[in-house]
Amino acid sequence: MKQNFILGFILASVFVIMAMGVWKILPKQRVEEAANIGLGTRKISIVTSFYPLYFFASELGGDRSDVKNITPAGVEPHDYEPTARDVIDIQNSNLLILNGGGFEAWGAKIKGELSNDNVKVVEAGEGLFVNNDPHVWLSPEVAKSMIKNILLGMIKSDPENEAYYTRNMINLVERLEKLQKDYVSGLMTCQSRDVVVSHEAFEYLAKEFNLEQIAISGLSPEEEPSTKKLVEISKFIKEKGIKYIFFETLVSPKLAETIANEVGAKTLVLNPLEGLSEDEQGKKNYFTIMEDNLANLRIALECQ
Ligand SMILES: [Zn+2]
Repeated sequence: MKQNFILGFILASVFVIMAMGVWKILPKQRVEEAANIGLGTRKISIVTSFYPLYFFASELGGDRSDVKNITPAGVEPHDYEPTARDVIDIQNSNLLILNGGGFEAWGAKIKGELSNDNVKVVEAGEGLFVNNDPHVWLSPEVAKSMIKNILLGMIKSDPENEAYYTRNMINLVERLEKLQKDYVSGLMTCQSRDVVVSHEAFEYLAKEFNLEQIAISGLSPEEEPSTKKLVEISKFIKEKGIKYIFFETLVSPKLAETIANEVGAKTLVLNPLEGLSEDEQGKKNYFTIMEDNLANLRIALECQ
């Protein structure tokens, strides 16, 4: 009995060694198919700072990843600080994915604290920021580059699953390209291209689709406008005949409503995707919210 067991073990080992040899000479496509049926059961443990990164990492990592998001649902991430529990989760993870560009005030500090650990850190927006604006995820074109940065971090952390992650990235990029097509055709013929938003989150989106962003607050929702700026914005809205002012789901709509009342405009949501609200969690994702944003842009800008 014992001998049978040992013989079985030896045969199994020989088989595994042979399989590894075959693996090396397989063409790339076959490697990808093999990756698809699953080798190894260890999951890469990833921590992300806020929702879009959580979504992208989960899509790339699929069922071979365990992704935890730091900013809770319903919370605006600009001023969020991780809890002690979050820090422990980061220490125990394989990969921490940050946006960078000053979006996570705590990012630089935690990188210093992790310097002796095996946790790899990737900044998804590295090399993509313009004018200190961290909101890169709102342009599908720039999001493609973010996804590539995330993929490189994942491969560094878990090279065994490179083919699997790469295949998922290709799928994700295809979905982003479809979203780009929807935006281009949806915003092709519009009465206006001026978008009045709650905080300066939409510059990358505006640039990609030839829109003009007019923001009430600054790069962070906390950067409240001066009275002078409010007067200027109201004047601009009246002169241009702008009919809608956009507000956000995670920030009080009060300022947007006040201006809208003053100039006789209506309000609509334009979601900067900095997080899902508790209501949206489980029902909405990056793509459905981007499509909702497009639908509201088409109303506000009177597109055909
Ligand atoms: Zn923001």
